[in-house]
Amino acid sequence: ALTIGIVGLPNVGKSTLFNALTKNTVLAANYPFATIEPNIGVVELPDERLERLAEIFGSERILPATVSFVDIAGIVKGASEGEGLGNQFLANIREADAIAQVVRGFNDPDVVHVDGEVSPKSDLETINTELILADLQTLEKAIPRYEKELKGKRIDASVLDTANAARDILNEGKLLSSSALDLEPIRELGLLSAKPFIYVFNIDEDVLGDEAKLAELAALVAPAKAVFLDAQTESELIDLPKEEAAELLASLGQDESGLDQLARVGFDTLGLQTYLTAGPKEARAWTINKGDKAPQAAGVIHTDFERGFIKAEIVSFEDLSAAGSMQDAKAAGKVRMEGKDYVMQDGDVVEFRFNV
Ligand code: GDP
Repeated sequence: ALTIGIVGLPNVGKSTLFNALTKNTVLAANYPFATIEPNIGVVELPDERLERLAEIFGSERILPATVSFVDIAGIVKGASEGEGLGNQFLANIREADAIAQVVRGFNDPDVVHVDGEVSPKSDLETINTELILADLQTLEKAIPRYEKELKGKRIDASVLDTANAARDILNEGKLLSSSALDLEPIRELGLLSAKPFIYVFNIDEDVLGDEAKLAELAALVAPAKAVFLDAQTESELIDLPKEEAAELLASLGQDESGLDQLARVGFDTLGLQTYLTAGPKEARAWTINKGDKAPQAAGVIHTDFERGFIKAEIVSFEDLSAAGSMQDAKAAGKVRMEGKDYVMQDGDVVEFRFNV
């Protein structure tokens, strides 16, 4: 499954946020056969379409798509020099498909800031510098090896060229994700600053509605996406029944919890989309990559579905919802038969036909 690694300086609210993520009992309640790992938090991707589908098909339950977050503790200033950026940390962060960086924006004199003052800008610079230094170390080790391998004609010249180009970018103090360099030839290195980034600003409740302040913070990380939340409020929300949580959010001028936002932005940053299936048992969202074709989408349900794929009966959610039933959608000519070259669209409601 795709996971997003959570990083940030000490005392910025990572554990508080992560507690909220793991208290989310999604896995235990809806996916009884999934293994739950202690350092993984799972959030459901809110999707109102599933409720409508459940209504149309009389489904017993709703299974939204999920996004997983993994807690990657341990980044501090000087970390890349061995002060805390241990092997385990590096291994965990390399495995993450994207990185969510938590940045402290909240003011609380009782919570010490590692650098003495609350400054999102300098915190961002500290973490980015550590990631850049870690990547430079990786490249300094890899480049001599690539030079040898190229002499022995064991690799393509593009590998060494890309490694050198990446080093130049990092030496300018830039994250690789901010450049247009194609890193495919050196993918095996798992360079950290090349991953997609999301920035999570942990701010005071009363700042959540301050548009000018939010715009100022968002500008620090643009074009990457920013999510604004109050980690402490999130950890309280998670303990409340749905209606009370919605009331509390509304009283803060929010229509969505920070965790929901995080799930949506994470999903989008990973380049994912969902298609839907529905029947009397369940209405369910399935996660695929943007651009996936019908057989690949079928394979997410079961590998046999991909192997034996014949065709897919597809109606867009909007057409089905407007028609009110599958029968009426068919009568209106809105249900299509698609073959193996069909590129899936977000919100396709699908029934696969396959050989077993
Ligand atoms: P971590 O070191 O990044 O994991 O940070 P923690 O989650 O342990 O938080 C450090 C301290 O800040 C704890 O005492 C938290 O209770 C407090 N804290 C976390 N989030 C907030 C917040 O949004 N507002 C305030 N006032 N305190 C917070």
